[in-house]
Amino acid sequence: MKSCLICQGIINDNFEIEWILSLQPRKIKLICQDCQGGFRALSGKIKCEGCSRVLEMSGFCNDCKKWIKKYNGKLLKNTALYEYNEKMKDYFQKFKFLGDYYFLNVFNQELRKFVQKEYGSNWLYVPIPISIKSYQERMFNQVEGLFSGVNFTRALIVQSEEKKQQSKLNRNERLRRKQPFKLNSQYEEIVKDKNILLLDDIYTTGRTLYFAAEVLKNAGVKKIETITLAR
Ligand SMILES: [Zn+2]
Ligand SMILES: [Zn+2]
Repeated sequence: MKSCLICQGIINDNFEIEWILSLQPRKIKLICQDCQGGFRALSGKIKCEGCSRVLEMSGFCNDCKKWIKKYNGKLLKNTALYEYNEKMKDYFQKFKFLGDYYFLNVFNQELRKFVQKEYGSNWLYVPIPISIKSYQERMFNQVEGLFSGVNFTRALIVQSEEKKQQSKLNRNERLRRKQPFKLNSQYEEIVKDKNILLLDDIYTTGRTLYFAAEVLKNAGVKKIETITLAR
């Protein structure tokens, strides 16, 4: 009997007749049905046209309204697959606490397939980098773990070591941060005039992705969109 990565509950992993008839390789379940049901997919929901945040009415959320002002109407288009609700928070907290790469497999296949289907080979996939400090603590970049299997273009690097990790900053501290990224000089020619999809785990205020986009715009890329697991 297997237990759920998130709640340690039992995973009902009986052989299903549909699977036996489909002759497909077996899909391994990592989380239980209850946890699976706690995640809220955003497809088909009314959401912000800028960042995919769930809204009561179509239009822009307050964060995006600020970015419209700050960047003269040039809003990033962010696609998020799931709502950042209690279950998603729980998932990321457990993952951070345990630091276990295996957690990232819960959404890996879905994210990879989505990116490959919706974007394809006309785009370069640039993951948001993590600081050397976080890398040393964890030994992997969780964004690359979530999107594992996608062909990464590691065009961005962290230029300044933050005094505090991003996740430990409050909302105002986050918004006041200075540009944390710079272009990896090896990629100067590679990113020019290209379509870039920036990859991140959670869209919180958008600050991180807008910083990353600024660096890439200055490097002469043609088009930028962003994708995150959660918003
Ligand atoms: Zn569970
Ligand atoms: Zn928005």
